[in-house]
Amino acid sequence: MSTRIVDLRSDTLTQPTEEMRARMSSAVVGDDVYGEDPTVNELESKIASMFGKEAGLFVASGTMGNLLAIMVHCPSRGSEIIIGDQSHVFLYEQGGPAQLAGVQVATIKNEIDGTFSLAELQRKIRIDDIHEPITSLVVVENTHNVCGGKVVPLSYLDELVSIVRRSSGPSIALHMDGARIFNAAAALGVSVQRLCRDFDSVSICLSKGLSAPIGSILVGSKAFITQARRFRKAVGGGMRQVGVLAAAGLVALEQIVPLLGKDHERTKRIAKAVHDLSSPNVVVDLDAVQTNILFLEIKQPDLVGSEFVQDLENVQPDELRAGVKDKNGLGVVVRSCDLTLKSVRLVLYHQIDDEQVELAIKKLTFVIKQYDARWPKVQ
Ligand SMILES: *Cc1c(COP(=O)(O)O)cnc(C)c1O
Repeated sequence: MSTRIVDLRSDTLTQPTEEMRARMSSAVVGDDVYGEDPTVNELESKIASMFGKEAGLFVASGTMGNLLAIMVHCPSRGSEIIIGDQSHVFLYEQGGPAQLAGVQVATIKNEIDGTFSLAELQRKIRIDDIHEPITSLVVVENTHNVCGGKVVPLSYLDELVSIVRRSSGPSIALHMDGARIFNAAAALGVSVQRLCRDFDSVSICLSKGLSAPIGSILVGSKAFITQARRFRKAVGGGMRQVGVLAAAGLVALEQIVPLLGKDHERTKRIAKAVHDLSSPNVVVDLDAVQTNILFLEIKQPDLVGSEFVQDLENVQPDELRAGVKDKNGLGVVVRSCDLTLKSVRLVLYHQIDDEQVELAIKKLTFVIKQYDARWPKVQ
């Protein structure tokens, strides 16, 4: 049976737009390892100036951007970086800081709002002592992925910066894992330049909500980028006529960044629809929905995330009868991700339009109402 799929597993599922494909095919290119690709150079300098930094570097992925930043900011082996325990760098980059940069990681528990304790940060910054590693870098993630696309507030960032800058001993750098920094800026109504003003480096994903097919950009000072460019070659990230990819990045900045607020609105719309069901089994914290990521929390003890994901993917005959179908009569499959045992994550992005949002709402409503019929109250 053919079905209509609304795929909300991740904003990495974005497809390049028609305009991106057109600009990619006509991009003027050169050998970027020689610094001779004009399209890459244009993208790097454009994004650097948006962020108020001196220079930029096109890299293959967000993971590579974070790794290079850590390598540059931690020149001596056995340096230590401080980072949230729910951060992407800590959880999902294969221990790259240890494996490839020779760096030790100290974690601080992430709060549900994406921040970590600044008092704890202060305690974790090392004194200059022969027994101890050298604290070289603090990494902040914004928006915070695992914490549900939370926007780390400007006031918190300012306070963090002042603690790090006031610390005695060797100077400590600040890196922003800004995979979704444009989402943070859109949600706050603040420029990315202001949000990242006091950070020495920022990595930004083009291939998530910004809809480009491949790539991230690292920005920072000229000296920082020169060294990052050198390390990029060592980790196999020196690419040649990569302007074909940078061309999509330019379109992302011009055309997709201004639309991110729309993704946030649609995410809220789904959240509100689930909230309005007042289900005892599946709940959503409306205040927690700040950008393009939405977590549904499972309160029913007899239900786990993987089953909820499966139920959203199954099409039962009675849901077609109940009208859960698209305009061509196709049943609706909603794809999602059980990030924990008791929660399911939905992520919106450029290709998810109003029609798909309505279909997702219908499907969620149907499945959750079935739970509520089966378990009218949570024990
Ligand atoms: C996706 C992501 C990355 C890494 O991106 P890849 O391009 O998949 O390597 C880094 N940080 C955060 C917060 C992310 O969500």
